[in-house]
Amino acid sequence: MATASDCLFCKIVAGEIPNDTVHETDTVLAFRDITPRANVHVLVIPKAHQDTLAQMSAEDADSVAELFTAAGEVARLEGIDESGYRVVSNVGPDAGQEVFHVHVHVLGGQNLGPVAAGRG
Ligand code: 5GP
Ligand code: ZN
Repeated sequence: MATASDCLFCKIVAGEIPNDTVHETDTVLAFRDITPRANVHVLVIPKAHQDTLAQMSAEDADSVAELFTAAGEVARLEGIDESGYRVVSNVGPDAGQEVFHVHVHVLGGQNLGPVAAGRG
């Protein structure tokens, strides 16, 4: 499995940094964001390291499907599958990506407002 020695999320996958796990499979891990920006804020990551979604291609179709399947499972486990939720991934500087290990945010448990902060 691809890992990056200086990657925070690879360290979480390796158990070197504690996390509040919500859901786990052989290939993905879902855990609570340390700075929640909504009542429910869970990060879903592939266990194998890739920097961003932009690196993923058709070869990674299974991995992408597993990520989104896990996001749906997290929503069910958190009880927000009926009320609704948002799945987002920040890619690069304009999106404010902080951790360069692919992840999607699952946000919900409240009305989330518009999808982006707007222009300018
Ligand atoms: P990004 O901005 O890269 O899309 O999101 C990275 C997310 O990781 C942020 O929402 C941030 O709060 C979260 N985060 C950063 N460090 C940690 C950590 O050590 N543990 C957990 N659970 N979340 C973290
Ligand atoms: Zn990593």
